[in-house]
Amino acid sequence: MRILTVVGARPQFIKAAALSRAISAMGNVIQEQILHTGQHYDAAMSDQFFSELGIPAPAFHLGIGGGSHGANTGRMLEGIEQVLLEQRPDALLVYGDTDSTLAGGLAASKLKIPVVHVEAGLRSFNRHQPEEQNRVLIDHLADLCFAPTDSAVAHLRREGIADERIVRSGDVMADAARLFGEEAEQRANELMTSAGLQVMAGGNQPFVLATIHRAENTDDPVRLEAILKALAAVAIKGVDGHDPYSVLLPLHPRTKARIDSFELEHLLEPLTLTPPLGFMAMVLLERKASLVVTDSGGVQKEAFLQGTPCVTVRTETEWVELLECGWNLLADPSDTLGILKAMHQQLAIDIKQPRPQLYGDGYAAKEIMANLMQL
Ligand code: UDP
Repeated sequence: MRILTVVGARPQFIKAAALSRAISAMGNVIQEQILHTGQHYDAAMSDQFFSELGIPAPAFHLGIGGGSHGANTGRMLEGIEQVLLEQRPDALLVYGDTDSTLAGGLAASKLKIPVVHVEAGLRSFNRHQPEEQNRVLIDHLADLCFAPTDSAVAHLRREGIADERIVRSGDVMADAARLFGEEAEQRANELMTSAGLQVMAGGNQPFVLATIHRAENTDDPVRLEAILKALAAVAIKGVDGHDPYSVLLPLHPRTKARIDSFELEHLLEPLTLTPPLGFMAMVLLERKASLVVTDSGGVQKEAFLQGTPCVTVRTETEWVELLECGWNLLADPSDTLGILKAMHQQLAIDIKQPRPQLYGDGYAAKEIMANLMQL
């Protein structure tokens, strides 16, 4: 069986790594070719994931990035269609909710090539969010929807997607956490030294790990300032009587650009900044941190998988089960005091309590492979 996997953005490289491992473990039964749209293109956001996680080099690279959603999606659609016409794979596989996901699904569907969507059924119910628009559309295009959670399955059913198109596979991010978490622990010193973060490696100094990159936060100066003010306050004064925490912020290129243009650089002074980190270093820091503060979908979940409480600076999340069990708490991104209150609350969580198995057993890729073979 020949599949074409379309990726373009950082979280998709990580998911593809988990699946590519399962594919190669099965020998030559499935031949996978990777198409990289170019949505994330620089070394820190793209290349380092391919080399570090052993993802097969892309057979096709469209080099499309930097434009508007519409322009990018249109150009990707055309480029992917061309590759599909030449290669005629048995299926096209896409992950998550980016413009690359939608363009891949649409191109294949028009050519009657079966579409497989991994991480299907998630909903934030915020119809203005670009990711939500992509999610809803791709699930309706897909012939096979691999849903990570029970709530994802329920969303798909509620939207009228037939049961035979839905598989509750578990979450490939749980596979990634399992596959790369232990390796990261073993390579802790090397990983932290190369990121210039020796102090964090031992986990003996309390620190907060933060990531901010979502457009609704970075492109809104009020929100971006409120979030950075909360992080700076924790780094200078601590939270409610606790000593200050080191706050580590790996800076997404978009966030860095907006901080510069809104002239918010002074708020970064108390923080420890790094360029975007490799996945292994990231997993290790998620594991060692006292708290994660993020607006990332993937990082919320990884914090839980690594046993670290989280504050999500968004008004809604697709990963509702994390709110229900208390490991994650939403905080209004425009309210500095509210964010600090949420951080205080999450820092008080008993991290020794057992965690429910919300995202499967870490073998979602195996389940996905088995179902792919039936296509
Ligand atoms: N990530 C990483 N290095 C970083 C920041 C994030 O490897 O400096 C990883 C993170 O561990 C997660 C993924 O990137 O697996 C999340 O990507 P992102 O936050 O860009 O997207 P989202 O999950 O919100 O779609």
